[in-house]
Amino acid sequence: MTLMRRQSLVKFLLEPSEVEMGQITVNYKNRGRIFVNGEKRYADQCVDLLDRWILCSCVGGAILEEIFNGSKELDFNIVPSGFITGLEPETRLKSPDDGYALGYKSDVVTGTGVGTRATITLTDTLSVSEAACSSILHVPCDAVVYMRTEFGLMHELVHANRALRGKMRTVSQGDHMKNSEEAIAILITNMLMSEKGAAALRKNYDTAERLDPPDPVLFKNQPGNEALINQVATDHPTLKAKTNTDTAPVPFNPIYAVFHGKP
Ligand SMILES: [Zn+2]
Repeated sequence: MTLMRRQSLVKFLLEPSEVEMGQITVNYKNRGRIFVNGEKRYADQCVDLLDRWILCSCVGGAILEEIFNGSKELDFNIVPSGFITGLEPETRLKSPDDGYALGYKSDVVTGTGVGTRATITLTDTLSVSEAACSSILHVPCDAVVYMRTEFGLMHELVHANRALRGKMRTVSQGDHMKNSEEAIAILITNMLMSEKGAAALRKNYDTAERLDPPDPVLFKNQPGNEALINQVATDHPTLKAKTNTDTAPVPFNPIYAVFHGKP
């Protein structure tokens, strides 16, 4: 759930030729450069999750298509638990300035919009660690549906997509949905969750509250959210194209609630 800030970005990124003994690298679908690295069992599980849960869905498929079309390199590492901090899953940027949109500037990054290589780190079981749920939400992982493995992976794929394509703007992690990278990852993952029939959607980043009711029109009408949805639509044209229709299989569909099928 974590988007690493610049201070913690110093991490050796494994090149495919430098993968440790006993580990394999899968070039996922041989499209773009999505590499799944890890022991065979983990890599197989990860590919299976991408295939059977994300690529085949409307929302997840759109995010992966954007990665395929926009990727120079995206390493997707599966790292044994204990190796890193206990805030998995997380996304790290190779070149932070390049992950941010041209014109975006903060005290730590100056966006170039070029896009950067990114690495998603998952635990050895692919699941979200209890340390992460405790740290971010102060509840056990099984108390919130969006901490399930497949939704955690989707959330990080949104971060990686935006870093790779040079679309990132903020790393604000306030407790309200606002125009930040976490809010965008939560919004898009909520769309996938509704497509999958999840019992509850995520309200914000750092509480265990559910979005109640999960109504896209009510959501759109809350202050600031229409601008957030417009940003998502602008930054993610494939996602917009697939979901801006009343036939999209996505009950929580803020994009359609804003655009009603119009460009
Ligand atoms: Zn996140």
